[in-house]
Amino acid sequence: VQLDMVSFIHTILDKQKFSESKDRIQFSANVEQLIVYADTYLMEHILGNLLSNAIKYSPNGDRVSLRLSASKKHYNISVTDQGIGIAQKEIPKLFNPFFRAKNTENIKGTGIGLAFVKQFVELHHGTVTVMSELGKGTTFMIKFPLEEGLPRPVKKFNENQLSDKRILSSKN
Ligand code: ATP
Ligand code: MG
Repeated sequence: VQLDMVSFIHTILDKQKFSESKDRIQFSANVEQLIVYADTYLMEHILGNLLSNAIKYSPNGDRVSLRLSASKKHYNISVTDQGIGIAQKEIPKLFNPFFRAKNTENIKGTGIGLAFVKQFVELHHGTVTVMSELGKGTTFMIKFPLEEGLPRPVKKFNENQLSDKRILSSKN
């Protein structure tokens, strides 16, 4: 569907699962409105997992920044935390299903969230990149195309494509 990404993000942040961390998440955008084609269900999972990771993996309660920036041909959404970070050598494995980094062994998780983030971003013709420094923090950046002011329609999503159905009921 066509949606305004700015108000969509506000809706996500108002959801109950973020109510406890609301004052930690700082949202900024370089546009007041951004009409895009996106699947709201998939997009909610993308942002939901990146934000919940940022909160979960910054146990000191530091600020998490969510930024939306749009140019003529692309829009980017980035999530930055000042948490535990990810070792460089583990970054290539991050999007593998069930991969969990060594320094998060004591923090609950299944390791499936980012595998879905990558698949769901790709269904929107987007890419996801990570920058991180151990002990300093992490930025996940997703980049989506905008063509002639609008992105291409989202690829058809079929539940049977999922290798793991848990995401459909996951509150993560
Ligand atoms: P879940 O499936 O419930 O989301 P998870 O959070 O462990 O579990 P992913 O979201 O796929 O799984 O993340 C995979 C791994 O990547 C995490 O276990 C963690 O080791 C690492 N990771 C992800 N995001 C961050 C982050 N913001 N800071 C540090 N490590 C991270
Ligand atoms: Mg996660």
